[in-house]
Amino acid sequence: MHEKPFLYVFFDGILIAKVILLFIILLKKTMESFNFSAIEGYLIDMDGVIYKSKEIIPGAIEFIVELQKRNLPFTFLTNNSQRNPRDIQMKLKYFGINITEKNIFTCAMATARFLKCQKPNASVYVIGEGGLQQALYDSGFAVDDHDPDYVVIGEGRTANMEMIDKAVDFVHKGAKLIGTNPDPSCPTSEGIRAGCGAIVSLIEKATGKNSFSIGKPNPIILREARREIGLPLDKLVMIGDTMGTDILGAVQMGIQSILVLSGGTKIDHLEDYPYTPGLVVNSIHDIVKILQEN
Ligand SMILES: [Mg+2]
Repeated sequence: MHEKPFLYVFFDGILIAKVILLFIILLKKTMESFNFSAIEGYLIDMDGVIYKSKEIIPGAIEFIVELQKRNLPFTFLTNNSQRNPRDIQMKLKYFGINITEKNIFTCAMATARFLKCQKPNASVYVIGEGGLQQALYDSGFAVDDHDPDYVVIGEGRTANMEMIDKAVDFVHKGAKLIGTNPDPSCPTSEGIRAGCGAIVSLIEKATGKNSFSIGKPNPIILREARREIGLPLDKLVMIGDTMGTDILGAVQMGIQSILVLSGGTKIDHLEDYPYTPGLVVNSIHDIVKILQEN
């Protein structure tokens, strides 16, 4: 068997030790400055926090049960516009998490509310799945395949070149380009696939027009979710696994944030960002322990 030279093993060891040390220092620092007792409501990202692909993350069920036992309000806040709240409720039920539809707020719902404020009864051309279509329909929007006011792009696998060409033409002719979320890619069981942000970028590039995205980190979605929970900003926390959406959204909204390392972000990635989360933990399991100690 091929063995690594001694120097390689030595430097690998130093790197691992550096990462562990960085984690311990950061955890200690954030634990000291994080005011857990002030929190009365939770905004929770799902993918990478509650589950990963088709696996539930250990501690997720206990965390939700603990919140329910303490009557602490919580909302699952997702940048995925594919499913409606009822679909998400069913998905979580299969993982053993029992919640109501009212505990779910999606970027599709935030997008529909935003557009309703901007231009009620507008016409829309939609590339997206059931969750987005239903949210727009519920808010009174009509689908227009000829001369829409808005082109709305969501997450999903329904897009094809014919639909994208149509969207490009509508935006070129003056329709406003809206994305439900800016994520450039989505995790799949095999790797990643193009996300809403990537499709929106393609249309921006083709037309030279700028889009507007509603999902995290845009404070619009956090503001709407806060309205649902009905608590002041200083009583809320956002728990997420992504610096550029969950944590940036919380920073922009002015609420506390907890980064879990059970998703896409690793501890050494934190150096790349000019902002930091309020607290960094390994996973939701650590938050259950902290909750039980408080
Ligand atoms: Mg996530």
